[in-house]
Amino acid sequence: MTSDSIDLFGVPSGPRTVPVMIPMPAPRAYSYAVPDGVAVEPGSIVQVPLGPRMVAGVVWDGDGEDKVDPRKLRPIEKVFDCPPLSREMRAFLDWVSTYTLTPPGLVARMALRAPAAFDPEPMVEGLRFTGVRPERLTPARERVLALASDGFAWTRSGLAHAAGTSSGVIDGLTRQGSFETVFLPPPPVVAAPDPDHAAPRLEGPQTEAAADLVEAVRSGGFGVTLIDGITGSGKTEVYFEAIAETLRAGRQVLILLPEIALTASFLERFQDRFGARPAEWHSDLAPRIREKVWRQAATGDVRVVAGARSALFLPFENLGLIIVDEEHDPAYKQEDRVFYNARDMAVVRARIGDFPAVLVSATPSVESRVNGDSGRYRMLHLPTRFGDAALPDLHLVDMRRHPPQRGGFLSPVLLRAIGKTVEKREQALLFLNRRGYAPLTLCRVCGHRFQCPNCSSWLVEHRFRGQIQCHHCGHAERTPDACPECGTLDHLAACGPGVERIAEEVERHFPEARTIVLSSDLMGVKRLRLELEAIAKGEADIVIGTQLVAKGHNFPLMSLVGIVDADLGLSNGDPRAAERTFQLLSQVTGRAGRSGLKSHGLIQTYQPQHPVMQAIVSGEARDFYEREIGERERAVLPPFGRLASVIVSAESRADAEGHARGLRQAAPRADGIAILGPAEAPLALVRGRHRFRLLVHGRRGSDMQGYLKAMLANGPKERGSIHVQVDIDPQSFL
Ligand code: ADP
Ligand code: ZN
Repeated sequence: MTSDSIDLFGVPSGPRTVPVMIPMPAPRAYSYAVPDGVAVEPGSIVQVPLGPRMVAGVVWDGDGEDKVDPRKLRPIEKVFDCPPLSREMRAFLDWVSTYTLTPPGLVARMALRAPAAFDPEPMVEGLRFTGVRPERLTPARERVLALASDGFAWTRSGLAHAAGTSSGVIDGLTRQGSFETVFLPPPPVVAAPDPDHAAPRLEGPQTEAAADLVEAVRSGGFGVTLIDGITGSGKTEVYFEAIAETLRAGRQVLILLPEIALTASFLERFQDRFGARPAEWHSDLAPRIREKVWRQAATGDVRVVAGARSALFLPFENLGLIIVDEEHDPAYKQEDRVFYNARDMAVVRARIGDFPAVLVSATPSVESRVNGDSGRYRMLHLPTRFGDAALPDLHLVDMRRHPPQRGGFLSPVLLRAIGKTVEKREQALLFLNRRGYAPLTLCRVCGHRFQCPNCSSWLVEHRFRGQIQCHHCGHAERTPDACPECGTLDHLAACGPGVERIAEEVERHFPEARTIVLSSDLMGVKRLRLELEAIAKGEADIVIGTQLVAKGHNFPLMSLVGIVDADLGLSNGDPRAAERTFQLLSQVTGRAGRSGLKSHGLIQTYQPQHPVMQAIVSGEARDFYEREIGERERAVLPPFGRLASVIVSAESRADAEGHARGLRQAAPRADGIAILGPAEAPLALVRGRHRFRLLVHGRRGSDMQGYLKAMLANGPKERGSIHVQVDIDPQSFL
């Protein structure tokens, strides 16, 4: 017999071949032979040989492009016993690949992040009561049997634990014939949420907003809703109603959160409302849990996932709603391997799946606002805080009129307010978006500045650790005592503040107060969650934090927020600088007064006339957006125009620059698209690699991807250490 088979019509056909997408930077799927008797369909997760290795991949759509004799193709080794990736998911992965100009294998890789989950979870061994009673009954045995006579199966340890006895007692009963062994399906990672567990009584504008969302879910189909409501207005309660309705319809829900690792309080709220926690998905999960969540999202056993941006790539069985909370947050942009914005891709995922998406923010992105104003997104407004909670009273502190003491960074105005707050036994939050003690160290004698050997950036002093560190590559060295340039001892000066230095100043002024610094470099996620809980319970008087305190935490005793340096983000050449500053400062000041305490926000600035500062204190977000949208429109910046950047990096500066110039020359001519650069990147050196940037600017609707593809195809090819990274819709311009 030959390897050819005869089909039903008697026509000889070669072995079947299918394209398989492999999780690596290949430009397309590769063809494999399907051995006789093996059943695969598009989406099947399979194991295939790749060179000397075995890898897991996904059977893709189409016939495969390899024009190779099928008999020479290598065969699929194994089909995993796993639900296939849905047609929607495959279409989504293809879309992301095409949009971001990333090889499809690299995008597919994000959907295959838990290889151990491709095999089914093993059954769990359990015991069931047979009805046979032992000859001799002890109190422990009686307790065990009382529990087990419920007719359900128990695990050995679970039963022993519940009965408050040792597993030896259970084993004794088993020998007496009281138990038989049964196999149980693996337990779910989380219990099923109940849409009607504890529905709140909504109030005022919440009622209408929730009804609107529920209607969107009921009528089904794709649509985007933007919930624009101030902090504390009940946005979460409102979108919970959309989740409940989706659950009632038997479909799964994905909630994206920008810093899931820090949102313990969110999980609790969800549990209060639905009687069970959502499954979590983020990079800090234990591998075993990750695998379970992946698998159970695919089988449909997990109904709701709350996760970081990568949760968008989970293989849901029947996804019916995506919520993007804090939709404006820059953390939704991934800038590693696959450069994508999870907020935008969530909308794409919903469109492909034909279900609703809900974007939520107190300070929506300009992009989403414009979509709302134009009617492309439905807008729901929640203009007031729930209950008797009031927004903090906000004031600018003009630092030219109220300068801090020499060597300090806190104005007398802010110091007085902190003092009063602490006296009242309430809490103060001081916000400065800068880790460490000081962003720059220099020698007072020769002027030497400590710079990273691998990057074009200053080394940041971290005094708690006794180190100076690079925030771009992680390079760290012991804080020196002497200048390496001139050798002078003890003449190094710290320039500018980081949170550690503010803490030092606070402790000098308020030695009795309990002060805590919250910064991602000082503690892991677990510790951070504990600290946040402790703060919520009032176990600190003064909290000093970086941006991670801005996000979603509820501190009932917080009645003062001080912004140490409101100007910090305004001058970095980023077209979104004003928007970002507005959002961040609004979020931080929104931490205060959430429980009805009269609260204040003091914003230290050297530019009190700046429109961002004016917008924040006046509470006139609308004016700010109008102005910002007008400026974007005039400059044809997103969303009125399109941007893409191309970053060329190489070990030698000349290589990076030469390659970038080559690309520029290869750029096609296109109506409405212009290319700028190459220019040396503001961060000219990172991890020993020199960087040059090109910026492509197009009118709305221009084919940026086509333009970039032509440029990359006609331009010089990557070689040696040269790497080209395309970033569509860039958020960072460094
Ligand atoms: P946002 O998400 O807009 O910041 P939240 O949904 O967190 O607002 O609501 C703020 C606070 O008010 C929360 O503690 C929430 O539990 C409470 N809250 C809001 N709406 C209601 C309601 N209808 N019934 C009871 N509590 C509510
Ligand atoms: Zn560095």
